[in-house]
Amino acid sequence: MAEIQLRNVSKRWGSFVGVEDFTLTIPDREFLVLLGPSGCGKTTTMRMIAGLEDPSKGEILIDGKVVNDLEPKDRDVAMVFQSYALYPNMNVYENIRFPLRVRGENPAGHKEKVMRASAMVELDEFLHRKPAELSGGQRQRVALARAIVREPNVFLMDEPLSNLDAKLRVSTRAQIKNLSHELSVTTIYVTHDQIEAMTLADRVVVMEKGVVQQVGSPTEIYDKPANTFVASFIGNPAMNLIDGVVQGGTFTADSVSVEGLNVKDGPITLGFRAEDAEVSQEGGQITAPIYTLELLGDATMVSVRIGGALVSARSDKTFRAEIGDPISIRIPQEICHLFDAETGARLD
Ligand code: ATP
Repeated sequence: MAEIQLRNVSKRWGSFVGVEDFTLTIPDREFLVLLGPSGCGKTTTMRMIAGLEDPSKGEILIDGKVVNDLEPKDRDVAMVFQSYALYPNMNVYENIRFPLRVRGENPAGHKEKVMRASAMVELDEFLHRKPAELSGGQRQRVALARAIVREPNVFLMDEPLSNLDAKLRVSTRAQIKNLSHELSVTTIYVTHDQIEAMTLADRVVVMEKGVVQQVGSPTEIYDKPANTFVASFIGNPAMNLIDGVVQGGTFTADSVSVEGLNVKDGPITLGFRAEDAEVSQEGGQITAPIYTLELLGDATMVSVRIGGALVSARSDKTFRAEIGDPISIRIPQEICHLFDAETGARLD
C-alpha cells in the first residue's frame, strides 16, 4: 500500500527552475505517467520522489509520512532506468538477486524470489548469461525483474523503453502493462512518448518547462486538452490549430469559416483533430488546394496549408486526388476546440 503526495514541490538550481510548484496525490496502485518534452522536469520530479534529489521547496509524502529527509534506500521505492544499470560481471540470476543481498534478506528465500521475478519477465532461460550476452530488450527485462524482486511499495520507471527498437518497444510496453496489472503496485513512469503515456497510464501528467499543464485520464487529456500545448502534444498527428478571429459566433481565418461558435468576439485559436474532420469535394468549412497526401494503409491523410501551418484531415483509404486539387474539409462546430489566442488556455 503506497499513496504518494507532492505538496507544492519545486526544484531550482540558482535562478533556473527545474520543477515549479508541483502538487498531486497519487493514490495507491495508480499507474501515473509523467509526460512532456525533453527538459520539462519529469526526471527531476521522479528523482525527488526517489530521494535522489532534494526539493528546494515543498513536501513529499509516502503513505501520509513526510519523506523529505529519508534516504532513498529507506523509501521502499524501486527504480528502473533507461540505461539498465546492470552489473556486467554478474550473470542474470545474480543481477536479479542483488537487491536481496544488499538488504541482507535470508538467503534461503532468494532462489524462489529470483525465479518468480524472472518468470514474470520471461527470463528463466537466460539466468546464467552475463548482460553482454543479452539483447537490449532482455537487459531491460533483467532491470525490471531486479525491481520486481524487491517487492517495493512504489515503482519508478524513467524512460525504460527508450533504448529499444520500435518493435521491441511495443512488446515490452505490453509486458509492462500486464505486469503492472498483475503486481498492482503504485507506479510512476516517465516518458516523452505520448503513445506510451496513453496506452499505459491510469492518469497522465503533462508537463512543460517545469510546470504541470494538465492532469487527467488519457481520454480526458485527449478529448479536452487544457491548452494548446497539451492539444499539440497529445494525438498523432497533433491537433490542428488555426489562429483567427470570431465575430458574431463565426470564426474566420485564411480559407476557413466556421459558424455557430459560442464564444465572445475577438482573436482565438481554433483546434480540431484530423480524425474528427471529414474530407469532401465541397461544402466544408475549409476550402484550399491539397498540399500533400499520405497513404497510411487504413486511411489517407490529406493536408492543406492555412496561414503557413499544415492542417490535416483523415480520409478513407479509397480517397483519390492529386496534390494541388481543390479540397473541402468539414469541421462542424461540435468537433472544434477553442483556445485563448494569447494564453492558449481552453475556452469551452
Ligand atoms: P529528458 O526527457 O530529456 O530526460 P526531463 O523532462 O526528464 O527531460 P529533467 O531531467 O527533469 O528533464 O530536467 C529538467 C531541467 O532541469 C532541464 O532543463 C535540465 O537541464 C535541468 N537540470 C537537471 N538537473 C540539473 C542540475 N543538476 N543542475 C542544473 N540544471 C539541471
